[in-house]
Amino acid sequence: MYNYAKKGMKMSYVKGLKCRECGREYPKEPLYVCEYCFGPLEVSYDYEEIKKKLTKELISSRAKNLWRYRELLPIDGEPIVGLNSGFTPLIKANNLGKELGIKELYVKDDSVCHPTLSFKDRVVSVAITKAKEFGFDTVACASTGNLANSVSAQAAGANLKCFVFIPADLEAGKIIGSLIYSPQLIAVEGNYDEVNRLCTEIANKFKWAFVNINIRPYYAEGSKTYAYEIVEQLGWRAPQNIVVPVAGGSLISKIWKGLHELHKLGFINEVKTKIFAAQAKGCAPVVTAIKENSEIIKPVKPKTIAKSLAIGNPADGYYAFKTVMGSGGWGEDVTDEEIIEGIKLLASTEGIFTETAGGVTVAVTKKLIQQGRIRKDELTIISITGNGLKTQEAVISKLSQPIKIKPNLSSFESAVFKS
Ligand SMILES: *Cc1c(COP(=O)(O)O)cnc(C)c1O
Ligand SMILES: [Zn+2]
Repeated sequence: MYNYAKKGMKMSYVKGLKCRECGREYPKEPLYVCEYCFGPLEVSYDYEEIKKKLTKELISSRAKNLWRYRELLPIDGEPIVGLNSGFTPLIKANNLGKELGIKELYVKDDSVCHPTLSFKDRVVSVAITKAKEFGFDTVACASTGNLANSVSAQAAGANLKCFVFIPADLEAGKIIGSLIYSPQLIAVEGNYDEVNRLCTEIANKFKWAFVNINIRPYYAEGSKTYAYEIVEQLGWRAPQNIVVPVAGGSLISKIWKGLHELHKLGFINEVKTKIFAAQAKGCAPVVTAIKENSEIIKPVKPKTIAKSLAIGNPADGYYAFKTVMGSGGWGEDVTDEEIIEGIKLLASTEGIFTETAGGVTVAVTKKLIQQGRIRKDELTIISITGNGLKTQEAVISKLSQPIKIKPNLSSFESAVFKS
């Protein structure tokens, strides 16, 4: 493991927490809301100091995991988990691009992020390391599935006690993908928004680190690495468009923050990237706000196969909206049928099996290209954030059946060639 202390690196460039609404500053503690205006808190950094130290060359010389951007992440000491997380492939999707009529199309593939096959391994790597630094002995989360998987796995690796709360009706792959690590898995009879409300009460009563509640400001920073990697893997260029799935709205707003940080450090030119929000029609509070050009995110009751995105009252919905509008992007939503087509299209063109959230981004990208909102000559990234083996229920009845034969040559030939 790379020993940052021995190399004499200043261990943290975090100035503290800052309210996103009124700007009041707070110390770097497990806080998440402003006492004065109830605005969410965000980690702020000393970019002048970072600039003196961090270069593209230094980053490129480091191990291929998310900690290569360590100075831009909110931990003080050594990273203790996530040493194999991040730095997932950026794939030039020529076949899919041809299908959609666009030349420079890439897939940023977190369906193979280590250890639990979704982008949540990024945020959890940061959150668990931070929870340990704060001295918590128990970590917890409210989850639509992938977060539960990652918290369960990484808590096991970090020797922390673990409680994860999920809606009871999740896919088998998401439930088994948590249970295997032996957390306390609590299946709540309700939707994610009800799970989240319950967890906020539990977080107030028990002294646990709820990664996406009371240490959310630190957790959310991990999402920035998704954007850093895209830029680095494009040869330190920002793309023209990124299509991003939206659940709570954290990933999309942190991609935006990450791009601007890279500009502040002088690694890329002024950010002109358009950010596009992708949601399922059955749960599209942010996309609806975009289409109505209304800052007010109206909560909805989710009804979609894209369960990982089924957050009807997104914590960062307003910031997701601001990000999209501020970037000159747009938002689209797609039906369950379109989601399944999206999953199958990515699989048959690029050999990548994504979960329902990836079906959403593929189908939304197709729509945005048809609408002319993404132009055919623009370098575009589709965010693939989770793995299809976890949401098999979505596609199982939509595939052709295996061809059954007897174990002999004639049976094979008659079944395959003479029907
Ligand atoms: C959680 C999740 C997202 C979106 O996350 P937010 O930051 O809450 O918007 C996207 N894709 C997958 C697969 C997820 O699990
Ligand atoms: Zn405030």
